[in-house]
Amino acid sequence: MTFSPDAAGPASAARALESADVVVVGAGPAGSAAAAHLRAAGLDVIVLERADAGAVRTGTAALTPQAVGELRALGIDDAGTQRWHRTTGVRFVGGGMRLAVAWPDVAGRPGHGLTCAQAVLDDTLSSYAVASGARVHRATEVTGFQTDARGRVNGVAAQPVDGSGQPTGAGFTVGARVVIDASGVAATGQPSGLAVSVDFASPRHLDDHVETWLSLTSADGTRLPGHGWIVGRGDGHVTAGVGALAADTSATPDQCAGVLQQWLTALPAGWQLTETTTTGPVRAARLGTARAHRDGARDGVLHVGDAAGAAHPVTGEGLTAALVSARVAAATVVEALTRTGESEIATTLAAYGARLDDALGRHERWDRLAARLLDRPSVARLVTTYALPREALMKRVLRHATPSPGAPVETSLTPPTMVSVTRAAAHPGTERGVDQR
Ligand SMILES: Cc1cc2nc3c(=O)[nH]c(=O)nc-3n(C[C@H](O)[C@H](O)[C@H](O)COP(=O)(O)OP(=O)(O)OC[C@H]3O[C@@H](n4cnc5c(N)ncnc54)[C@H](O)[C@@H]3O)c2cc1C
Repeated sequence: MTFSPDAAGPASAARALESADVVVVGAGPAGSAAAAHLRAAGLDVIVLERADAGAVRTGTAALTPQAVGELRALGIDDAGTQRWHRTTGVRFVGGGMRLAVAWPDVAGRPGHGLTCAQAVLDDTLSSYAVASGARVHRATEVTGFQTDARGRVNGVAAQPVDGSGQPTGAGFTVGARVVIDASGVAATGQPSGLAVSVDFASPRHLDDHVETWLSLTSADGTRLPGHGWIVGRGDGHVTAGVGALAADTSATPDQCAGVLQQWLTALPAGWQLTETTTTGPVRAARLGTARAHRDGARDGVLHVGDAAGAAHPVTGEGLTAALVSARVAAATVVEALTRTGESEIATTLAAYGARLDDALGRHERWDRLAARLLDRPSVARLVTTYALPREALMKRVLRHATPSPGAPVETSLTPPTMVSVTRAAAHPGTERGVDQR
C-alpha cells in the first residue's frame, strides 16, 4: 500500500497499544537491519510486519560483497554455516559469449559474495532484530501514519491481519518519535521494474558465479526482451529469473513469466532447469528501482530499502541498498534523537536523503537511461557484441554496479563508459581472457 501522512490523521480514536523511540514498518531485510542497528545504539524499537510467522518467500538472495560487508557490520558472519554459499564473481553471458569477472577488489570489503534461500536471509535478519531486543509484531498491518497537530508523523495506525491480509481484530495505534518505512516497493507509489523467478533442483547449484544474461533468446533463436540470471545456492537449488528493469516498463508478470519459460527451454538440458525439476511457484514482484523519495525523510518518516526505491536501477539488485539504507537511516535517527528541539531533530532527519545518495554512490540519470536501453533486445545485442568481448570494460561495468561508499559518483553507463563501448565498437576483436565456449 501507499501510505500518506494523513491516512490515519490526528483525530484517530483507535486504542494506543504501545510506544517506542522508533517504529519500523516491515520486517524485510531493510526493516530488520534498521531495527538491529537502532537497538545496537540503545534505542527502543517496535517492528510491525504484515506477514505472519509462517510466511516464507521462495527464491534465492544473491548478495554482493558490499552486502556481505553490511551483514558483518551488523555482526552477522557467514563463516561456519551451511546455509550460505560463497560466490567469487559474476559471469556475463550473451550473444554466444561468456565472460567471468571476479568481484572487484575493494579495500575493507569482503572478497566474496553470498547466496542463500531468500527465506534464510529474511529469517536471519529478523531473528537478529528480535535477539537485539526489537519488539517484532507479526500478522500486523500498518494502515496509515498518525500525525500531531502540526502534521508531523508521531506514530502509525495498525491492525491485526490473517495470512491473507484480512483484519482479525480491532485497529490500534503505536506512538513513536520517528517512523521508518521499510514496507517495500509499494510504498513508493511509483512505477518500477519487474522481475519473475523460479526455483529448481539442479546440478548447477554449486556454481560460484552469479550468472547474468545480457541478452535472451528462445529455442528457435528469437530475441527476447529483458535480462536473465541463474544463481546457485549450494543446497541443491538454483533460481533462474528474468527482469524488465526500466521503471516505465509496460511488461506484465505474465509476459515476464512467458519470457522466462521461452528462455529456459533454450538452455542446455544438462542444467535441468525444466518443469519437472521446479521446486516452487513462480515469484513475480516489482523491483524497488523507483528512487521516489529523494528527500529521504518527510514529516518524520524515513524510507529504507525498496520503500526508498533504492534498488540498483540497472541491475535490479536491491539487497545491498536495503542494508546500506538501513544503516544510514539508523545512524541518522540516532543522531537526530540526541538533539533537543523539534526543528533540530527535523533538520537532522532531513539530511538522510543526501546521506543515502552518498552512501549508494549513484548517478541516477545515467542509470535510468541504461536500464531503459538494456531492456531493448537491439541494445542488448550491441552490448553483447561489442562490450562483452572486452574483459577490461566488463570489469569496469561490474565495479560501477557495486560502487564503494563515498566513491566518486559513477555508474554502469557514465559518459566515460559509453565512450569505451563506442571505441570498442569501432575496433571489433576479442580481448584476452574472454571465454568463448
Ligand atoms: C524475483 C526477485 C528476485 C530478486 N533477487 C534479488 C537478488 O538476488 N539480490 C538482490 O540484491 N535483490 C534481489 N531482488 C530485490 C530484493 O528482493 C529487494 O530489493 C529487497 O527484498 C528489498 O528489501 P526491503 O526490506 O526493502 O523490502 P521487502 O523485502 O519487500 O520487505 C518489505 C516488508 O514489509 C512488509 N510490509 C509491506 N507492507 C506492510 C504494511 N502495510 N504493514 C506491515 N508490513 C508491511 C512486507 O510483508 C515485507 O515483509 C529480487 C527481487 C525480485 C522481485
